[in-house]
Amino acid sequence: MTRIAFIGLGNMGGPMAANLVKAGHAVSGFDLSEASVKAAAEAGVDASKSLAEAVRDAECVITMLPKGQHVVSVWTDLATLVTEGTLLVDCSTVDVDSARQAHRLAGVMNCPSLDAPVSGGTTGAAAGTLTFMVGGAESAFAAGRPILEAMGKKIVHCGGNGAGQAAKICNNMILGISMIGVAEAFVLAEKLGLSHQALFDVASTSSGQCWSLTTYCPVPGPVPTSPANSDYKPGFAAALMLKDLLLSQEAAAQSGARTPLGAHAAELYRAFENGGHGSEDFSAIIRMLRQTQTS
Ligand code: NAD
Repeated sequence: MTRIAFIGLGNMGGPMAANLVKAGHAVSGFDLSEASVKAAAEAGVDASKSLAEAVRDAECVITMLPKGQHVVSVWTDLATLVTEGTLLVDCSTVDVDSARQAHRLAGVMNCPSLDAPVSGGTTGAAAGTLTFMVGGAESAFAAGRPILEAMGKKIVHCGGNGAGQAAKICNNMILGISMIGVAEAFVLAEKLGLSHQALFDVASTSSGQCWSLTTYCPVPGPVPTSPANSDYKPGFAAALMLKDLLLSQEAAAQSGARTPLGAHAAELYRAFENGGHGSEDFSAIIRMLRQTQTS
């Protein structure tokens, strides 16, 4: 049993904290939203009224917050609140620079730290089947691994500070590009009079096979559990896909990597969000591609 403070009890953090409770850890939780704290308390999390109250006596602090600025701000506040040696873990998806800044703040506090973003969405968070992509020192990883195992089924140590975030944004750049590719193929098939099922049967068993096709198929029918079958209710919202694509483009600009398709995917998802579709599943971009083709 570890005393864990969980900061950020939203769509992801709430169920993740609940799984830590189920695994027998003592979890205190804090969120700016009272409703989120209340929901977490119903799952056995000890509700705190402030960050200070939540992290008091914690052996490990986990943050699951929207953006890099929130993580850096909370980790800055932790400096006066946690004791040396407390393990600090950020599971949010943030830019690599903010992740490294958070690690530097932990270093000043003499606290081991990990960036540990996740893949698997809210379903994976609830089921405890997330994949964690982890950056940080070997010793910090060894300390954090048993805690992460209570929330996920695959824990990958990707390298030093920031390597987890780097893996996350590279993976999601593949995802954004591949979803657009699959959606374009279905739009073309429609124009050519080829049925959705026929394209699926061929592509899913040949070289076009990918997760965007076989798990999140952007047309209803071939994969009954894909969001296309429930009017594109997320799932993984288009606004979050845009956020991750923009993080990849920021990292590409800073590192000098050439990612033309990543840049184009970000442009298309920005147009989709500007059209008022940010809260739809990211596979709904097929609707915009159909319109673009006929206009
Ligand atoms: P969310 O908006 O549901 O939850 C974030 C929570 O952080 C909110 O409840 C908010 O009130 C709280 N918060 C913000 N600032 C705070 C502060 N200073 N102190 C305490 N609480 C604070 O978002 P989410 O969907 O849970 O996503 C969290 C992170 O996980 C994001 O970085 C997101 O990109 C990433 N992520 C989300 C998904 C997904 O499918 N939702 C999948 C993978 C990764």
